[in-house]
Amino acid sequence: MITLDPKDGGQAYQGIVPLEGDSISAILENYMLRSEQIDTKIWLCCDGNSAAGMLIQKLPETMNQVTQAEDLISQDLETWNRVGYLASTVTEDELLNLPTETLLTRLFNEEDIRLFEASPTAFFCSCTRESVSNMLRMLGDKELTSIIEERGNIEVNCDFCNTLYTFDKVDAAQLMITEAVITTSLEIH
Ligand SMILES: [Zn+2]
Repeated sequence: MITLDPKDGGQAYQGIVPLEGDSISAILENYMLRSEQIDTKIWLCCDGNSAAGMLIQKLPETMNQVTQAEDLISQDLETWNRVGYLASTVTEDELLNLPTETLLTRLFNEEDIRLFEASPTAFFCSCTRESVSNMLRMLGDKELTSIIEERGNIEVNCDFCNTLYTFDKVDAAQLMITEAVITTSLEIH
């Protein structure tokens, strides 16, 4: 599942992508080609401590370019192929260890390069033990009791950040009590 959440007030978008390709980068390339219809190539790697990636993307053609002469279109294609070939020579070591500027000049040393200011990125998952508890409460006492009886505890794993939330018998009883309190207070009102 791919979630695009532009924090600048734009509409969030979620898409389900078929698992086509044998790596995350291949799957994402397929997604970009099919859903966004943009030619994209992605390289990803990690060494256990850090992860690095490179993405090259063919900019969408403007209306002017759509009607432009054939030879310019083939020039575009040639540039795209050349840049793709040069980028594909990147090694995992270079991706993980070289500063961006050095990497770009090394890969594309005959190209005209313009380096934009970097934007910081951070991994973030909005899951909390509280939100998982609320989700469990919605399953109802009967369901929670039967899971506890069957497995001894309740385990919920967040597929985004891989955090495992475990609720033992005492925790589960607490969940059911909290639900009872909510129900009572609703009845009072
Ligand atoms: Zn999470």
